[in-house]
Amino acid sequence: MKWSYRAARVAGIDVRIHVTFLLLPAYFGFLGWQEAGLTGALNELSFIGALFLCVLLHEFGHALAGRRYGIRTPDITLLPIGGVARMESIPEKPSMELFIAIAGPAVNVGIALALAGILALTGGILDGPDSTLRIQLHNLLVVNCGLVFFNMIPAFPMDGGRVLRALLAMRFSHLTATRFAARTGQTLACGFAVLGFFANPMLILIALFVFSGAREELQHAIQRQQYEELLQEIARRRGSFES
Ligand SMILES: [Zn+2]
Repeated sequence: MKWSYRAARVAGIDVRIHVTFLLLPAYFGFLGWQEAGLTGALNELSFIGALFLCVLLHEFGHALAGRRYGIRTPDITLLPIGGVARMESIPEKPSMELFIAIAGPAVNVGIALALAGILALTGGILDGPDSTLRIQLHNLLVVNCGLVFFNMIPAFPMDGGRVLRALLAMRFSHLTATRFAARTGQTLACGFAVLGFFANPMLILIALFVFSGAREELQHAIQRQQYEELLQEIARRRGSFES
């Protein structure tokens, strides 16, 4: 990805940070500073850091699940709207895609359960948070639940959309499943864009990302179908030639 630099290498995967990502700590650090000076800025920065660590672990969930099937992930890039794990190929079987798609949100479920455990052990999950640390853990728990919910919206190529395609591909052809998932994804992307104007402008960026991602994936599926048909045609001609 252009305009990104390598920040670390973990388990053979490059962790890259897109330059636009840096706007996020700058913006929230500034808001915290305005509210409560240095302490406020540090609180905001530590929360953003913890949040994107959760996003990163989510992407590692996908990458390590892909590795199970021999699919390599050269890098994970952090963007202001989230993380992107770049896999070298698309899983062959729908069951593989299903497993890889679920692995990301499953990591956030694990983190949310761990945070709930910590909060319960230190004075109840629903008790009013009484310290900055407890407030942050509480907020992190809420955000992880939000990440699970948001990622599971069937807006292909988001995780929920990949789950939808995988389930459809178990019954229909890869192309039919992709076409349906892509149309659903693009319809939902239009909804995100409209919502973005009234709520969070970040949704407009996500809408663009989903809309163009769905189109690319559909084109890829069409090419894959054409390639498979070509291979079948070659095999058929060879068969008739040999007989
Ligand atoms: Zn994901």
